[in-house]
Amino acid sequence: MPLYSENLIEEVRSKSNIADVVSGYVKLQKKGNSYFGLCPFHNEKTPSFSVTPGKEMYYCYGCGAGGDVFSFLMKYENFTFGEAVETLAKQAGVTLPVKEFSSRAKRESDKRQRLLEANKEAGKYFYMLLRSEHGAAALAYFKKRGLSDETMRRFGLGYSDKFSDDLYRYLKKQGYEDEVLKDSGLVSYSERGGGRDKFWNRAMFPIMDVRGKVIGFGGRVMGDGEPKYLNSPETVIFDKSRNLYGLHIARTTKKPQLLLCEGYMDVIALHQKNYKLRSRRDAEESLYKILGLTAKPRGFVKGAADELMVQVQAAYAKAIMVARTPDDWDDLDYIMGQYPVDTNRLEAFYNCRKR
Ligand SMILES: [Zn+2]
Repeated sequence: MPLYSENLIEEVRSKSNIADVVSGYVKLQKKGNSYFGLCPFHNEKTPSFSVTPGKEMYYCYGCGAGGDVFSFLMKYENFTFGEAVETLAKQAGVTLPVKEFSSRAKRESDKRQRLLEANKEAGKYFYMLLRSEHGAAALAYFKKRGLSDETMRRFGLGYSDKFSDDLYRYLKKQGYEDEVLKDSGLVSYSERGGGRDKFWNRAMFPIMDVRGKVIGFGGRVMGDGEPKYLNSPETVIFDKSRNLYGLHIARTTKKPQLLLCEGYMDVIALHQKNYKLRSRRDAEESLYKILGLTAKPRGFVKGAADELMVQVQAAYAKAIMVARTPDDWDDLDYIMGQYPVDTNRLEAFYNCRKR
């Protein structure tokens, strides 16, 4: 896929009138500063789909679909980002250079690609290990937590072996250079010992970006080691302030509300339960998009996470609810338990501004 500079993408965006573009697909009517029409992403009889040219955004109050002119085309036409840019550039009369990138930018883009490949390869390796005899304890752990084979597959769960350079040697054998591995978040280096795995003897949770590409991992130690949970460090491909666990699944769920939980296991368990929660506002039960934090912000869902949540809300959901864990019980065991979920105990509340 060709890559274009931010400036060029901005130029295409500003020369594309979002209302014009959308009205090529949806019949729109002007109301105040916005246009309204029937949402193309869910079935409805009264228009709740809005386009606001001033903000260059579209948003559906019914299903929560929202974004800019590029994401509209990506969603409607199933385009990649590059295809959306090219289509709009053509319409707006912006010439896209064939070779936009300097050699340095090209190198950086190749590096990024290589880091994504290394993380994907690691994910595949961990996945395989979980299902080998080496992974027996981790597999037993996941099963004890009530996860089905289907759920484990869906979330790509795995296991990192006991040897401290197992993955390192595997990736080297696959042709990954130290120069790539040192920036992958998977390996740390010391003068004496050389490459050493960041994760070993852990149940592994691949963290994927919105497109489902593995960008990092969370690992829970087997046994008594410290720390109990370990996450990949931030890397070129893993920006903790811009990613939520489960976003690639949540974005395709046509549901207006979002349930935010703290941990990976909470997200996975709630998905397996096909989680339904009674909203305080209306009595109707509905399935929520379920997301977890990839980093624990200070003062849970405050400050740093706030901005991200507002963005997520604008793009994906009408309201965000937060699953909070009372200190005295383990919500996961509670959710996965035999008895029905008591929504009063899973304290949920609207966090961000209601739309
Ligand atoms: Zn909609």
